[in-house]
Amino acid sequence: EISETGVVNAVTKELFIGGKWTSAAGGKTFPVLDPSNGGLLCEVADASPADGKAALDAAVAAQPGFAAMPPRERGEILRRAYELLLARNEELALLMTLEMGKPLAEARGEVAYAAEFFRWFAEEAVRIDGGYAVAPNGSGRFLVTKQPVGPTLLITPWNFPMAMGGRKIGPAIAAGCTTVIKPAEQTPLSMLALAGILAEAGLPDGVLNVVTTSDAGGVMEPLIRDGRARKLSFTGSTAVGRTLLEQCAEKVLRTSMELGGNAPFLVFDDADLDAAIDGAMQAKMRNIGEACTAANRFYVQRGVYDEFARRLTERMSALVMGRGTEDGVTVGPLIDPAAVEKVSGLVLDATERGAKVLTGGVAVEGPGNFYPATVLTDVPLNAKMASEEIFGPVAPISVFDTEDEAVAAANNTEYGLVSYLYTNDVKRALRVSERLEAGMIGLNQGIVSNPAAPFGGIKQSGLGREGGTVGIDEFLEIKYIAVSL
Ligand code: ADP
Repeated sequence: EISETGVVNAVTKELFIGGKWTSAAGGKTFPVLDPSNGGLLCEVADASPADGKAALDAAVAAQPGFAAMPPRERGEILRRAYELLLARNEELALLMTLEMGKPLAEARGEVAYAAEFFRWFAEEAVRIDGGYAVAPNGSGRFLVTKQPVGPTLLITPWNFPMAMGGRKIGPAIAAGCTTVIKPAEQTPLSMLALAGILAEAGLPDGVLNVVTTSDAGGVMEPLIRDGRARKLSFTGSTAVGRTLLEQCAEKVLRTSMELGGNAPFLVFDDADLDAAIDGAMQAKMRNIGEACTAANRFYVQRGVYDEFARRLTERMSALVMGRGTEDGVTVGPLIDPAAVEKVSGLVLDATERGAKVLTGGVAVEGPGNFYPATVLTDVPLNAKMASEEIFGPVAPISVFDTEDEAVAAANNTEYGLVSYLYTNDVKRALRVSERLEAGMIGLNQGIVSNPAAPFGGIKQSGLGREGGTVGIDEFLEIKYIAVSL
């Protein structure tokens, strides 16, 4: 029997350090809230900088032994984690919905998505390759091998509380790196549950250390500046990423940065409009719009502009808002009151500049952080939401006439994570895909995320790629051995 109190009670709400659950210094805790009503779900350990240091000590101590573990054994731990995640999908999904708010169906999807990272990297652990080459002068030989980077620091956001863990922990373990992970303070429970599963899967003590804290900067900065951790992998806002990059500069840490996005969604007159509407709903409404890949700006060619807006409005206004645990709900609450305030402010700014509201547009009175699915048309290119991440269920639509105009508007941002493009003209599809400044393109497709594909952005959306065959490289150093014959 799965119940809300049951799944919350099942989580150990302590720090996980060196394979042991421990309370934070002084027994400090911080609250985890239910975003659908503001109620207290539970308290979890609130790590101090000293607790953080203990976690790093444990990761450093475990590193040599873990690097020596046969890749097949590392892979098999990941494989067991994959199986355990699938077996516990229902409990984990409910836990995630309680702390994060997303509808239960999406939480189930995320647990499966997180599991896929473990399956993918279970398979990658045994495929770390090397090389042997003849030096150009013919007299020497080059040996090339890959080794784990070393202890790594991982920082994850609240919007995909388990998948972002899987995306970082999976390749770290596959590569043979030990880790200290700090989940977002809004959603620590999914990560604590994941740590329990990895321990059950046979992960050696000290390989994964989980530090929950309400003082992210205070705990993580000393660990970054310590120098023993050799890498930071971060998913979060560009502003925080920039600060962390500066901190990493001191000891020249390797970094992987998955930062903000501002995805344009282009629909040309020649697009399959049914597909474009379906794709728009996915790209906009997956995760209540709280995704760095969320379509943030819709640019629609004049010939289909009115019809696209009408049909998208129809679909958006048919969505059901409510607590993510309720049957049929497709729009859960936003993460916190500040998120609702931010979305409201951006919508107000757009309407003051002349945008029209076709549906939604007004926050719901509390309790709960609800904002309805919203469609805006005639959004001027200088509206704030054209350059800022909305991170909510708001679809702003603007019209364009020419391909050049659409590409220029799409690229007019410091971000470069993903762009969506709907057209049935193959030449245009490739031409525009090449011109769009983004690390990923959704070509007639509203979702790009896939553990088997290289996820990541250009410009101020980040550095490095996660997933795919390159995902493990972020946790490996290349060593070249010059051989004289
Ligand atoms: P969001 O706006 O989505 O909450 P953030 O970038 O603030 O994105 O948060 C992403 C992650 O970064 C969270 O785990 C958060 O606790 C962490 N974080 C925020 N500020 C800092 C900081 N100064 N140092 C280290 N981690 C931080």
